[in-house]
Amino acid sequence: FRARSTPLDDSRCRDLRPGDPLCVSCPLAGDELKFFDAVLESVSPAAHETVDGEERCACRFSVRWAGGPLEGGREEVGVERICCVRPTPVEDAVLSEFLDGVAKSLGGGGGAGEGTRRRDLGSSHYACAISIPLLCL
Ligand SMILES: [Zn+2]
Repeated sequence: FRARSTPLDDSRCRDLRPGDPLCVSCPLAGDELKFFDAVLESVSPAAHETVDGEERCACRFSVRWAGGPLEGGREEVGVERICCVRPTPVEDAVLSEFLDGVAKSLGGGGGAGEGTRRRDLGSSHYACAISIPLLCL
């Protein structure tokens, strides 16, 4: 039995920013494939193809391993090896609290849309948090 993770959606590669913590698959000796922590260093964007109605990411992601046998080393990987952006719950909590404050100080007007959008993003990261620890720890 192998726990399945949610792979990064191909059309979401533009959400990634340098410095984002990621889980990246690393082939080990034999046929083993494990996920380790890595930090995104840079993105080389490439035009996406559409195959059978699904968007295919052709971008290359330069990552620095933060764990595993290659810790400290750099590698360029495709989106298929990136499992998911790791959540940063503390920052999200601070951020949404901050945005709540902003929304209130604006009387629930202009800033509310932005606050809602960011909270949605935060909750999708939270969903990832449930599946990731099995693979990363
Ligand atoms: Zn892409």
